Amino acid sequence: MDTASHRTPAKAPWTLLLWTAVASLVFGLIGFGELAEDWLRVARNSFRPHAASGQVVVVKIDDRALKEHGNWPWPRRLEAQMIDRLEQAGAKAIFLDINFSFPSAAADDRALAQAIERSGKVTILARSKIGPIGHDKAIDARPLPAFTRNARIASGSVHYNYQNAVWQMPFATMMGKDRVPSFGAALAGVDGPAEAMFPIDYSLDVTTVPAFSASDLLAGKLGARQFAGRKVIVGTASDILGDTYFIPGYGRNYGIFVHSAAAETLIRGRSQYFGWMPGALAALVVIALALLCRRTTHTALVLTGGAVILTMVPIALELKLLFFDITPGLFAFAIVGGALVWRRFHARGLVNPSSGLPNLSALTAFRAGRRQAIVAARMLNFEEALASLPPHSERKLVEQVIARLGVGNRERVIFQGDGGIFAWFAEPREPFGNHLEALQALFRNPARVADLSVDLSVNFGVELGSSRSLASRLASALVAADEAARDGLKWKIHDPETLQDASWRLSMLSQLDAAIDKGEVWVAYQPKLDLASRRIVGCEALARWTHPEKGPIAASEFVAAAEQSNRIGKLTDFVLSQAVANAAALVKRAGGEFDMAVNMSASLLSDKSFVLRLSALLARHGLAARHLTLELTETAALTSSGEGLDMIGQLRNLGVGISIDDYGTGLSTLDYLKRVPANEIKIDQSFVKGIAESRSDRLMVQSTIQLAHSLGHRVVAEGAELREIVDILTEMKCDFAQGYAIGRPMSIESLAKRISADRKRSAA
Ligand code: C2E
Ligand code: MG
Ligand code: MG
Repeated sequence: MDTASHRTPAKAPWTLLLWTAVASLVFGLIGFGELAEDWLRVARNSFRPHAASGQVVVVKIDDRALKEHGNWPWPRRLEAQMIDRLEQAGAKAIFLDINFSFPSAAADDRALAQAIERSGKVTILARSKIGPIGHDKAIDARPLPAFTRNARIASGSVHYNYQNAVWQMPFATMMGKDRVPSFGAALAGVDGPAEAMFPIDYSLDVTTVPAFSASDLLAGKLGARQFAGRKVIVGTASDILGDTYFIPGYGRNYGIFVHSAAAETLIRGRSQYFGWMPGALAALVVIALALLCRRTTHTALVLTGGAVILTMVPIALELKLLFFDITPGLFAFAIVGGALVWRRFHARGLVNPSSGLPNLSALTAFRAGRRQAIVAARMLNFEEALASLPPHSERKLVEQVIARLGVGNRERVIFQGDGGIFAWFAEPREPFGNHLEALQALFRNPARVADLSVDLSVNFGVELGSSRSLASRLASALVAADEAARDGLKWKIHDPETLQDASWRLSMLSQLDAAIDKGEVWVAYQPKLDLASRRIVGCEALARWTHPEKGPIAASEFVAAAEQSNRIGKLTDFVLSQAVANAAALVKRAGGEFDMAVNMSASLLSDKSFVLRLSALLARHGLAARHLTLELTETAALTSSGEGLDMIGQLRNLGVGISIDDYGTGLSTLDYLKRVPANEIKIDQSFVKGIAESRSDRLMVQSTIQLAHSLGHRVVAEGAELREIVDILTEMKCDFAQGYAIGRPMSIESLAKRISADRKRSAA
């Protein structure tokens, strides 16, 4: 059977790892996590804010300055004035983030060129491209040669993202053949290769960058205190003029602040960006380790730990200005975690949580079982056994059960349902009988759990295979197991398609006689308890037919069929002769006090030779007639014919006891009771079973006992399934009880042992 794959719900982890690697690769390549990445970075930055160095100072051409000095662009003599003022204030270097690529009034241009020359420390803006990342357009915004003659140039090329944020800045850009440093690099005095980018460290609190209005500078209100020995960047700072960017963690601000932030970064050190690969690779390594763990809790621990560390490590590294992206790595953790949780969730529905065995849902989902037979085992007292054990012993008990059920086929996958139900698939042609009987025999020895011994009784039901769904076939197997338990059989085959079919009934009948001859029919004996003395004082003989292919067939099934077609004679003769033959020995063993009951359909009472044959049988086995009781069913027929009643009279004269079986289910008027010369009433189990719960059943049983006693009859209650019922019956002064609580129908050998044990116990 190829059900072994079901045993391991977790598949090979490597496929999961591979898919995770591919997914995080795609994730990283398309930059899917950018938004989250930025958000995480801003969150981390907020933990380590730092103030500006103070080496870089900003002069803002702001709305106030524009109001005072007129619209932009200004006449260049104003910029010349600013250069002069800064120069006087002792600025270390002057950076003009202002476009001087076009000519203006000649006098103004001249004034600016002269101021630049006077200073000798001026750097002015050149721009070769601008735009969002990947879409920037080339422009040529170099300052006029008149200005650059005595000034350096710096690149103001920036690349902004979806948010209009500038996360990285080049050290320098190539303009034609010239390598032009970026404002940030130039301000910080750091040299770096062209087009190589460095990340801007936005943990800088931009509000700490010293900034002044151009209006105050031009008005002469600022001086050495603000500018001496510092590098000054002058640029527009008005929403009307644009050049606004999003500063992560701060909000909208102007280009000059972005350049300042870039400069501040480089002043602290050379920042480096490693992209997303290291994070993703580290995550995959940790995931691989996690998947190697045997226990799910360890796997979960390693995965969570990995994700937490990956989230925290950048905090430490960014202090050293080392930047890398973590979202593709976190994504990998999320994928694996999600997949494992999903698998577990999915598997949970198919696994019995207490034992880890696949459950019955798993069985019904097991498509390969469609062409196999289903065997269901039901432990009747499993729950009680569990209740008697210390908590958390279910797994141990189940292990013992599985060890026994697995005898003969260790490879077999056993599915576990609730409350002591187990099931498995089997070859439909397998000879079940011997195997199941052997398994049942194994359960005769008590299981040992936590130093306690636990008695388990098991019955099996088999569904051989049909076109129905696995769920309904399983249900049938379970019903068969229940029927087996009810009928005192070890196992039973559920085969509704053949059993219900008329041709099977016919063939069953034709087979019954042959079955008796072949020895397939045998007799089981169910003990009867005397409720006053608490001794086994009798038994009922019950016919059993173990069909070689179909397994045990319920007595009610073949008895009813035989009765309906007047074929019951041979069966009755067979059971009677077996029972009488055995009774003699049992009477002796029980010390003379023993009653053997045999079922007989009242319809047989028309057979005139019956009384003669019976007395011959009793004589042959040396059994006194008073040790035999005939339990009559279908007695309603008796009242219409005086014949049957006559025969009962003759039997009574012989000394044989007569019991009215299944009392309560058919005709049971007082008149009827008086007319049938019985000496015993057997209350039907359908009433007795309910007396612990149902008041009306209790009343019915109680009044029947009183009525029977008043007529001089003794009373047997059948269907005493629970100890409690036996106790209630005793209180009700019922004479005898029969039922599972006392004993199931068993072989004659078992009954003999039972009686001996009973005698020894009561003698002691
Ligand atoms: P019955 O004579 O009423 O027999 C009692 C039935 O109740 C038996 O079923 C027995 O196994 C079952 N039983 C005993 N204790 C309990 C209990 O505590 N709980 C429950 N639920 N059931 C209990 P079985 O052996 O299947 O027999 C069914 C019927 O078939 C018998 O009912 C009887 O009417 C008939 N039968 C059995 N053997 C013979 C026979 O040799 N000749 C005739 N004519 N009829 C027979
Ligand atoms: Mg009976
Ligand atoms: Mg009965």
